[in-house]
Amino acid sequence: MTKTGSEVLSYCTSCRMDLAHTIVAMVGDKIARVECRTCKKPHAYKAPKGIDTPVAKPKKSSSKTQSRSAKVSIEDQWHELMLTHKNSPLQKYGIRQTFSAGDRLKHVKFGDGVVTKTIHPDKIEVVFQNDLKVLIHARD
Ligand SMILES: [Zn+2]
Repeated sequence: MTKTGSEVLSYCTSCRMDLAHTIVAMVGDKIARVECRTCKKPHAYKAPKGIDTPVAKPKKSSSKTQSRSAKVSIEDQWHELMLTHKNSPLQKYGIRQTFSAGDRLKHVKFGDGVVTKTIHPDKIEVVFQNDLKVLIHARD
C-alpha cells in the first residue's frame, strides 16, 4: 500500500541512484515528495532509473548521413557520365569545334568534361569534375 510514511524505491537526485525513500507527500494516489533514507534529503518523487524506460536519444548522426546521401554531387555525376561515354573520343575544346550531347571534351582550364546537352545552337552544357559549365561552341 502506497501512503505517506511508507517506503518506496525512488531515484535520488543527490545520491544519483535508486534508493529506498520515505514518502512525505502524496497527491491523490501518486507520490509527490519523498525523503531519501541515505542522505535524508527531501525531493520530488522520481521513478527509479532502473525501472523507468530509457529516454530515446536524439539521432543526430543518422539525419546527417541522410542529407548527405540524398544529394548527388557533381563529381558523382561526372564519374557516371565519363563512364557512360567512355567510347566517345576526347576532343580538345575550342569555340570553333562543334559538340553534341554525349561528346567528351578536354578543356584547358576545367579539364575533361562530358557534354550533357545543347542549350542553344552555339551553347553547350558541360559537366566537369567539379563544376557544371556552359560553353560556347560552333563559332566560325
Ligand atoms: Zn539520497
